[in-house]
Amino acid sequence: MNQFLSRRTFILIPIMSILKIIFKPIKVLASSLTSKEEWNLSKNEWKSRLSQESYYILREEGTERAFSSDLNNEKRKGIFHCAGCNLPLFLSDKKFDSGTGWPSFWESIQGSVETKVDFKLIVPRTEYHCSRCGGHQGHVFNDGPLPTGKRYCNNGLALKFVPD
Ligand SMILES: [Zn+2]
Repeated sequence: MNQFLSRRTFILIPIMSILKIIFKPIKVLASSLTSKEEWNLSKNEWKSRLSQESYYILREEGTERAFSSDLNNEKRKGIFHCAGCNLPLFLSDKKFDSGTGWPSFWESIQGSVETKVDFKLIVPRTEYHCSRCGGHQGHVFNDGPLPTGKRYCNNGLALKFVPD
């Protein structure tokens, strides 16, 4: 009996640790938590503030179709705000045409976004979200133009553009 148990435990432990590794990424798919009390809204509160499409992007880490956002071609001077809480995230002079079909920036306004690693496409990617409300914005890559070399690939539905 003891021998059976110990053998079973011996088999179970590695299986459990493999499952843990496989299922761990699921946790990071939920939108990021905010440390700002006033933006710690319930699902329903967010649903009433946002369009269905923006809710999907900001609160469920969705991705809009490439070339679907008008902001992709936005060339006026101004500021791109978080569509969830209105925090200014990007300045228009840091925007560039990446050819990807999503509004792209080589720099965010300092302190406006926070990052985490996600495994949605198995390969780890750096997700970033609004530092105030935790709303998902997009992913940041290291193939952007100088001077930063960064490419913030943003969902247009997660942004609100305010021209100067
Ligand atoms: Zn926000």
